[in-house]
Amino acid sequence: MTQRIALLGHPVAHSISPRFQQAALDALAIDARYEAWDVPPADLPIALERLRSAELLGANVTVPHKEAVFRLVDRLDPLAERVGAVNTIVRRDGQLHATNTDVAGILAALAGIPLHGASVLLLGAGGAARAVVVAMHQAGVSRLTIANRTLDRARALAVLAPGIEVIPCSLEATDATLREAMAGASLVIQSTTIGMLHGPDEAGSPVPADWFQPGQTAFDLVYNPERTPFLRAAEAAGARPLGGLAMLVHQGAEAFRLWTGVEPPLDVMFDAARTAMKEMASR
Ligand code: NAP
Repeated sequence: MTQRIALLGHPVAHSISPRFQQAALDALAIDARYEAWDVPPADLPIALERLRSAELLGANVTVPHKEAVFRLVDRLDPLAERVGAVNTIVRRDGQLHATNTDVAGILAALAGIPLHGASVLLLGAGGAARAVVVAMHQAGVSRLTIANRTLDRARALAVLAPGIEVIPCSLEATDATLREAMAGASLVIQSTTIGMLHGPDEAGSPVPADWFQPGQTAFDLVYNPERTPFLRAAEAAGARPLGGLAMLVHQGAEAFRLWTGVEPPLDVMFDAARTAMKEMASR
């Protein structure tokens, strides 16, 4: 029996997950199909029932269903609850277990970068930023400054990182706290939609280009385009640029391990993801 894995979202046509997940399944000769299911919100309960069929290994969950699935699964793990979003469901013994692999994806993307005791600046306080805060807490950073256009959203994230110094501030270039954090951070993480293709400010970067410093790591969660204005500015200043594709592939790799119990071929996943991105860009 060919097994199946679903991606639940609305819309889903733009997602590159089917490309790199299927490539990994094929490379390991696993008889399974990764399928994109376009599920309007009203059809979510029916889609979750379909996931209970014997041939389903599980699913990925994307916008706008990451919170709505909470009440439709049998088990929600504490990590997904803390992050406030489910991105992976595993069918085990007929039950639907929900988790979040973004935190693992972030930490894998940052492998080799010293985080314990580090000063980190996070730009943005939306859904993806929540997983970043939990990841930074797990990694034992000592200070986390969170800068966001809407200051209250930055303040609200502090509860996710008990025991570490969390400093909320605005995203205004005139904000002295932001400027100081940028000067003192070994890692700057960009989690706003600025710089994203078809986003609110494709050509923009949330911080001035001349604020980066040699030796810093600049990690942009945005993966399309692969080199954002934020990353280009960081690189020009001698900082180390790291794009969001690594997080995307690593969160998918963690989901793959949970569905199949097998270590996925990361190089195959990265190649397939890059090919899919190039094809999308040339359309
Ligand atoms: P979200 O929940 O909608 O949050 C958007 C964030 O961007 C908020 O902090 C928002 O600030 C800020 N923002 C939006 N427009 C802005 C503007 N014009 N000026 C300043 N700030 C602005 O989105 P999300 O789910 O967190 O996703 C954020 C980015 O991360 C997206 O580009 C997404 O593709 C990427 N992402 C990547 C991965 C990966 O695997 N690499 C995973 C998840 C997300 P306010 O709070 O003030 O509105």
